[in-house]
Amino acid sequence: ERAFLRTPALAGKDAGNGRGSVMIRTIVGANWGDEGKGKVTDVLAEKSDIVVRFQGGANAGHTIINEYGKFALHLLPSGVFHQHIVNVIGPGVAFNIEFLLHELNTLVARGVPKPKLLISDRAQVMMPYHVDFDKYEEERLGGKSFGSTKSGIAPFYGDKYMKIGLQVCQLYDAELLREKLQNVAVLKNTLLENLYHKPPIDVESLVETYTALAALIKPMVCDTTLFLHQAVKEGKTILLEGQLGSLRDPDHGIYPYTTSSSPLAGFGPVGAGVPPWDMKDIDCVTKAYSSCVGAGPFVTELFGDEAEELRRRGGDAGEYGATTGRPRRVGWFDAVATRYGVMVQGGTEAVLTNLDVLSYLKEIPVCVAYEIGGERVEQFPTTPGLMKAKPIYTMLPGWESDIRSAKSYYDLPDNCKRYVAFLEKQLQAPIRMVSNGPRREEILYRQA
Ligand code: GDP
Repeated sequence: ERAFLRTPALAGKDAGNGRGSVMIRTIVGANWGDEGKGKVTDVLAEKSDIVVRFQGGANAGHTIINEYGKFALHLLPSGVFHQHIVNVIGPGVAFNIEFLLHELNTLVARGVPKPKLLISDRAQVMMPYHVDFDKYEEERLGGKSFGSTKSGIAPFYGDKYMKIGLQVCQLYDAELLREKLQNVAVLKNTLLENLYHKPPIDVESLVETYTALAALIKPMVCDTTLFLHQAVKEGKTILLEGQLGSLRDPDHGIYPYTTSSSPLAGFGPVGAGVPPWDMKDIDCVTKAYSSCVGAGPFVTELFGDEAEELRRRGGDAGEYGATTGRPRRVGWFDAVATRYGVMVQGGTEAVLTNLDVLSYLKEIPVCVAYEIGGERVEQFPTTPGLMKAKPIYTMLPGWESDIRSAKSYYDLPDNCKRYVAFLEKQLQAPIRMVSNGPRREEILYRQA
């Protein structure tokens, strides 16, 4: 008996779709991003009708390995490899049109059938000046930067909340677009000329480019919120796919080392446009160790040879960022951070990935508490506390054998199952899915 079991999975009302009772399932990261959400989404997409991206942009990547090859998706939802799925770019996404078209063309050029894709007419458009401002600001901050991927995310969301962003629907009226961009140019050119000493925004060339791009995506643009609400009524199964993870949330994460939109499941209904009461399952993906791209406190971080070994063995081809190629910072599993990460997601279960990566270790450290100023702390602190935290480890015995060939969870070595059970207890959330390799079929189901 486990007292911590929360909402049992599949607890929703019957969706009447013949595929169980879950209507909306949300897949989110419990940590700093790169937890393996792409793979988990790809696995679960098979049994879904719709996959929706609800926040973020092309600033992180999901790695998917399937019968078509290996792909790093940045903006496209991870359902694009399944012909029966409708993929949706929700209004909460930072939508880079050129990037999306490039990503779609690349898929098709590599033999993937053209996916079904819908784009919200309310999604806002990532403009070239957002990307420029991101770069210029990082240059200005120099060594004090927050580790931006320089894909325009912070300036984009800044403009959105300043109400000078551009929605997709506004691209179809050239006069309106010109007027909006002229106003943007007044504000931005002041900074470009006086602060960054860079060329000003050319409004006419933007109007021309974005009118042409808007025409290219027109067949995919619609009211996706209406579409999704209708789909819920019809009992369709919907997957919401988060980007990054809990600790990058601007409110609940390690601010200011966060992103600019909420990667929490709670934002899912807003950024996707679905009713919140139908979100029955919130799957929090976490790696069996820690990895992190970008700046900010990272308590269990490893350095030197130990880090190099884990980095080399991690992921499908070493721990290097899917978008940036930057070497990821790596460390042991941080139960304090991940328990918090699962809590703020409202996770109904945790999904453990990359378990196979730890097979080389004789003993595996797991961080069960922090030491801050001489005190033992088990609750995740705010950023200033985190900066001073040191890990307190419990050592678990390793299993020292390859587990990628395991076809059933119950075939895993005992020490491996003990490791999973230990993490489950630490996270206070059931672990029902365990990924033992990067490929779609390398997934084991466990009764929590
Ligand atoms: P996402 O952004 O959360 O989708 O994560 P990424 O795709 O950026 O990073 C996850 C990395 O782990 C990728 O290299 C995946 O191919 C890899 N991966 C996912 N699950 C497993 C697993 O169970 N074992 C191994 N070895 N690699 C995995």
